[in-house]
Amino acid sequence: MGPKQPSSRLSRRTFIGAAGLSALLVSSHTFAAPRSAKVILLGTKGGPTPSAIRAPASVAIVIGGLVYLVDVPNGVARQLALAGLSLDRLGEVFITHNHSDHVLDVGSLLVLAWGSGLKSPVGIYGPPPLREIVHDSLAASRFDINVRMREEGRPPLAPMIHVHEQANSGTAYRDENVTVTSAVVDHYSVKPAFAYRFDTPGRSIVISGDTTYREALVDLARGADLLIHEAMYLDGVIQLAGGNESLKDHLLRSHSTTEQVGLVAARAGVKKLVLSHLVPAFPSITDEMWLAGVRKHFTGEAVVGRDLQEV
Ligand SMILES: [Zn+2]
Ligand SMILES: [Zn+2]
Repeated sequence: MGPKQPSSRLSRRTFIGAAGLSALLVSSHTFAAPRSAKVILLGTKGGPTPSAIRAPASVAIVIGGLVYLVDVPNGVARQLALAGLSLDRLGEVFITHNHSDHVLDVGSLLVLAWGSGLKSPVGIYGPPPLREIVHDSLAASRFDINVRMREEGRPPLAPMIHVHEQANSGTAYRDENVTVTSAVVDHYSVKPAFAYRFDTPGRSIVISGDTTYREALVDLARGADLLIHEAMYLDGVIQLAGGNESLKDHLLRSHSTTEQVGLVAARAGVKKLVLSHLVPAFPSITDEMWLAGVRKHFTGEAVVGRDLQEV
């Protein structure tokens, strides 16, 4: 894979603001051969604590050699390397919401991609205060960035980063590889939180983000080839909370039980369901235990995600 060409990246991408749909200018480029999307789970754990067993949940969608990322938790650059994905091929980055297990490494990822030879701009899409988060994260690396610009001849990083804060559901992004649609989901007090749908020439992929059951997600996922949905194992959550009623209440209001996930998949009529963002990520919870609740409603293909698995 050769380096990206900034001019072609810029000409083919179209960012769509919430109010700018009527002024949409979609690239006229067309491709004879469909570019099939490869989907890799970079991590599959939910929650803010690091684990020796699973990396925090994020997804890489690779189309035409470009990497579209959903969420940038701690260690995401390392997971990309383990998946064999080159950081200098970083395309667009989509943030579901601003909890640390979804956005903590946004600055690190950008600095590491830049250090790996990133040459073309990167768009970052997600809810406020994403602009402030990206700005402050990059500020923490200002010393290193200045040294490398001076001594290694690297281009300034800041002009390559474009943050697009979005507060509403709708078409979030489009280029000739993909149309990305967002839907506001229900992550309790974290508002807005998004799910994203990627429609590509050969495949439609939906990522739930963090949410409890919400009809808007069923609508977004309708007929999708692949639904990657967060999941919470109820008995494990009760054990995890250990009598902390406030923590238990927070988890139940913020996330989806395996039965709710099955209901979303069944009502949306998706072809394949993958459980990720597992809470809690106890190894004692077997795949069958995770899937038992799902199967009460969904009879299609369903799997429990593994780190670095292609789905
Ligand atoms: Zn989370
Ligand atoms: Zn969250």
